[in-house]
Amino acid sequence: MSASTARLDLDGNTIKPITICMIGAGGFIGSHMCEKLMSETPHTVFAVDVHNDKIKHLLEPDSLPWAGRIHFHRINIKNDSRLEGLIKSSDLTLNLAAICTPADYNTRPLDTIYSNFIDGLPVVKYCSDNKKRLIHFSTCEIYGKTIGSYLPNNSPLRQDPAYYILKEDTSPCIFGSVEKQRWSYACAKQLMERLIYAEGAENGLQFTIVRPFNWIGPRMDFIPGIDGPSDGVPRVLACFSNNLLRREPLKLVDGGESQRTFVYIKDAIEAVLLMIENPGRANGHIFNVGNPNNEVTVRQLAEMMTQVYSKVSGEDSIKTPTIDVSSKEFYGEGYDDSDKRIPDMTIINKQLGWNPKTPIWEMLESTLTYQYKTYAEAIKQTIAKPVAS
Ligand code: UDP
Repeated sequence: MSASTARLDLDGNTIKPITICMIGAGGFIGSHMCEKLMSETPHTVFAVDVHNDKIKHLLEPDSLPWAGRIHFHRINIKNDSRLEGLIKSSDLTLNLAAICTPADYNTRPLDTIYSNFIDGLPVVKYCSDNKKRLIHFSTCEIYGKTIGSYLPNNSPLRQDPAYYILKEDTSPCIFGSVEKQRWSYACAKQLMERLIYAEGAENGLQFTIVRPFNWIGPRMDFIPGIDGPSDGVPRVLACFSNNLLRREPLKLVDGGESQRTFVYIKDAIEAVLLMIENPGRANGHIFNVGNPNNEVTVRQLAEMMTQVYSKVSGEDSIKTPTIDVSSKEFYGEGYDDSDKRIPDMTIINKQLGWNPKTPIWEMLESTLTYQYKTYAEAIKQTIAKPVAS
């Protein structure tokens, strides 16, 4: 970034360099956020996480142009007294830390609730007590199921957007029963949003809440057996990538009929940067961040990824590219699903003028190119290795 070009906010004011305490900086979103902040802004980042593999390329060597503007702190926010000091010495805290893979919600519900609610409490308290701004990452899953999903299958109202478009300020949050532990995540996230909102209302906390709608791209989650546990189940992009890399059929849970809208991580990061640099427009707001134009069923996603992977790898697809599995088989007892997730974009458009740009084909092509380059060789080697007796 040239020092001579003044960067302006949306109201034409010069943006002053700030210090950001980014909790969960070593994850998928954090790594892209750090990359953006280092390469395009003058801001400083205290990168807090227990791992730093995904941001190593930004931390070393010392000759990197942004050396001195990013500092890694290996801290577990559950039990480290250094956290308050870091929040106090920053202008803004971004909290990204959380368990956010559905396979964990019903199998590790306690860890899910603790990580998404209890462990985040000190962060909110330190921001509120020290009058520091907070950008908190929540989830689109807060909406749960659509109103339309409860209508009879043949109801014409199912086609009416009023019954499925998800709006920050008017849509209800509809979760399944308590035995459906899938919703432990959404419920913990919802309570955290309510707590932050109440801190704003009663104690003047300056906050912004982000609700990501299926952000995808390079470095998302892990590939089982390569950079994560071999029995681990990541989110759908990494599951399907893993199947493609191993030349296995992609598994469609309960017929792959659920619908999702996918947004490219680089588009989503632009939205967060606008929030960071336009506090007057972002404070006190909850923002959907997604791409309503990129809606597909999981089955369609599987078909698209199969085609794109063939192009990227030069390999023909296998004879049976997909198989059906039940959710009980795949995720275990207590799984449930969001049927459809289309974000309403009115608020983010009005406040920040943000719109996503990348079509689904394009984002799948760049992501699968990354997956192929990063993992194909390692997978070949694990497949070739004889199994230990
Ligand atoms: N899914 C699937 N096969 C997989 C992984 C996921 O059919 O190998 C489905 C899952 O049941 C859900 C959708 O894909 O309907 C998206 O799942 P993901 O884990 O990405 O997270 P979610 O969008 O539900 O938060």
